[in-house]
Amino acid sequence: MELLKQMLETLSVSGNEENLADLIEKEIAPYVDEIRRDVMGNLIAFKKGAGEAPKKMMLSAHMDEIGMIITHAEEDGYLRFANVGGLRIPFLVGQPVIFKNGVRGNVMYETKIDFSKLKLENLYIDIGAETAEEALSMVSIGDVCAPYGTLFELGEHRVCGKSMDDKVACYIQIEAIKKLKNTVYDTYFVFSTQEELGLRGAHTAAYAINPDYGVALDVTGVGDMHNMVSPNALKLGKGAAVKVRDSSIICSRLMVNFLKKVAKEKGIPYQMEVLMAGGTDAGAIHTTREGVITGGISIPTRNIHSPVEVADKRDIAACIDLMVELLGTPFEG
Ligand SMILES: [Zn+2]
Repeated sequence: MELLKQMLETLSVSGNEENLADLIEKEIAPYVDEIRRDVMGNLIAFKKGAGEAPKKMMLSAHMDEIGMIITHAEEDGYLRFANVGGLRIPFLVGQPVIFKNGVRGNVMYETKIDFSKLKLENLYIDIGAETAEEALSMVSIGDVCAPYGTLFELGEHRVCGKSMDDKVACYIQIEAIKKLKNTVYDTYFVFSTQEELGLRGAHTAAYAINPDYGVALDVTGVGDMHNMVSPNALKLGKGAAVKVRDSSIICSRLMVNFLKKVAKEKGIPYQMEVLMAGGTDAGAIHTTREGVITGGISIPTRNIHSPVEVADKRDIAACIDLMVELLGTPFEG
């Protein structure tokens, strides 16, 4: 888990994924045939498939994390910001943050405002500056920051931290690449950009790759919490989640059945995912060109888009296994 910890500590707010891409590229370079980056900043690794005229498989995990972008500085040195992706206000108040250049700060709110009515414009970042000029000598308008934090263990099986969405999936993809001996597909491992802003990286990557099959790797909300807005059947520790739908896709039934079949045959624990809010790279992949047979392998996760996202190491292992076995099994719907 040391690698995942390092990844969580590497800032990669949407549009600023390059440091994480560097880290990932170093990890996977010995195990793949080619690596390239495109204009959008996607990192695309390729591994040649066995046999004659193999079909093309695109797997995609997004590198970007949600964060904040500085809009202006107040006279007294406080910074105002806008969201990059789906920030949730209660999780921001009191949150330590870090900028790409290492500047630290914290998020506070205008206390005269009723907490339940807080809007983003009532929040500000204190970086210790006393004037606007000083603040803007430390960071610039347009700079991004994200929660400051690292990975830590929760009990025997679980890990907790910021931006598990979607670095835990990037980690799974890296570990699968390392474990994989042969693939029956010409396989494109995409580490995509700007997913949190509308699957932007996956759009161009899928167009360029023109795959026969697509699988998105992302976190998904679990139902094992109290008084939830949208309960579901997923539980932490019960296995990899096979996606049926999210807000961006109704998965191809062929791919859903195939993933279930592989999991069953290989004895990999899995559960079915019906995600009511939130999209994934699968949304971009399946509507590419004339359409792509697409599904998703998801990592059951608590507290998504908070600084304390929780995943289970048994599920992470199941997702790695499912990915490896998927690539070793010829597709049948
Ligand atoms: Zn995600």
